[in-house]
Amino acid sequence: MIQKNEEIIVDILSQGYEGEGVAKIENNFPVFIEGALRGEKIKIKIIKVKKTYAYGKIIEIIEKSEERVNSVCDIYSRCGGCKTQHMTYKEQLNFKRDRVKDCINKIAGLNVEIVKPTIGMNNPHRYRNKVQLPIGLKNGKLQIGFFAERSHEIINMKSCNIQDKIADKVVELTRKWIVDYNIRPYNIDGQYDEKGIARHIMIRRGFKTGEVMVVLVTNGDKLPYKEEFIHLIKNNIEGITSIIQNVNNEKTNVILGNKSITLWGKETISDYIGDFKFNISPLSFFQVNPIQTEVLYSKVLEYADLTGQEDVFDAYCGTGTITLFLSQKAKKVYGVEIIPQAIENAIENAKINDVNNAEFFVGEAEKVIPNLISKGVKSDVVVVDPPRKGCDRKLLEAISSINAKTIVYVSCDPSTLARDLGVLEELGYQTIKVQPVDMFPHTAHIENVVKLIKK
Ligand code: SAH
Repeated sequence: MIQKNEEIIVDILSQGYEGEGVAKIENNFPVFIEGALRGEKIKIKIIKVKKTYAYGKIIEIIEKSEERVNSVCDIYSRCGGCKTQHMTYKEQLNFKRDRVKDCINKIAGLNVEIVKPTIGMNNPHRYRNKVQLPIGLKNGKLQIGFFAERSHEIINMKSCNIQDKIADKVVELTRKWIVDYNIRPYNIDGQYDEKGIARHIMIRRGFKTGEVMVVLVTNGDKLPYKEEFIHLIKNNIEGITSIIQNVNNEKTNVILGNKSITLWGKETISDYIGDFKFNISPLSFFQVNPIQTEVLYSKVLEYADLTGQEDVFDAYCGTGTITLFLSQKAKKVYGVEIIPQAIENAIENAKINDVNNAEFFVGEAEKVIPNLISKGVKSDVVVVDPPRKGCDRKLLEAISSINAKTIVYVSCDPSTLARDLGVLEELGYQTIKVQPVDMFPHTAHIENVVKLIKK
């Protein structure tokens, strides 16, 4: 049995689900090594031994993969955000496709040939339109940045390669304001400080409209040197249309509170996905990579293959973005979502965009859809976009009971996707194609759009 602190040389055989390298030592015992790439020979030190696996740390890369690149980020090794910046982008896309293949083969028993090459971004940098950064002190020094992995320690950020460029500037200005006016941060050495004021800084930008919103999250209503903050942001941030104070009094790691005060400008910014317009407030949900969202939703529409005659269910519809996309080609779309505020937004979004053939329902998809079916609503095409845990079996059974001819499954978790594809195959559906889309370059996340048809 391998021991902690032992140093050994291993061959990296594959990438694990989080992008870590996987080696096998005696008796097929797996060792996970962060930062290691398949094909590499590495000297590692064992840092933790569990019953069925161990973790190792790179000591020296003896044979280096051709796919290894230097990360452009100077806090990559400490920040809990990105995971795959040490891979070429091409390799990131391959790694993600292989992960999907592995799941659909091992879990659903499907042929891996149906998994298409991952659709990546032409420019996989600066793709996020929203960032929320905690503000704190560490040993008396101001930190604005990202949390280290599984920790409350803030890693100071000067420039983040996956965030919109404007965020770097807002952070720099916020830092200046805090230092100049001696504003007390809320996070002191990883602990919440009741007397602290500045909790988080949030930046959102509409990529198509160029509109920028800056939200300062405060502990309590009091905001000293408010005018100075407004002045600094207003005069130095291009595109700024909205400066907001959000009040969060709770001792919690939830970032935003319920109360938002518009300090300057408009209450919302707007942006577009495809031709659809969305109004975005500090609390509203909006996809963080709008460029790839358009790619993803266009695939959904393509796979739905609508002629204008179909009634469509859009289960787990959130704020109704996919519903709006589907409404362009469907006779009628029924959006179903569990969170009432999301449905309020969805109704509002349909209204802003003059969409009249969409109807929304609040509730669990696995209850609402069988209920609609029992009232005689039929659907030829069903789209599902569930959270990580996947679909409730009752929903899949209901879909199959009405003989929907096409199902389009949008998934953010390949494992639960594969499980559900297995269930649908059992219920008489055939998985035709699986399209991975890279919505989050440099992380291990992968989204998929899948087309199934009734056998
Ligand atoms: N389709 C949307 C959002 C998908 S995220 C978009 O593209 O933006 C998944 C959504 O499912 C979330 O909004 C979540 O609130 C909702 N949800 C979770 N469990 C649900 C359930 N049992 N029934 C209906 N909606 C659910």
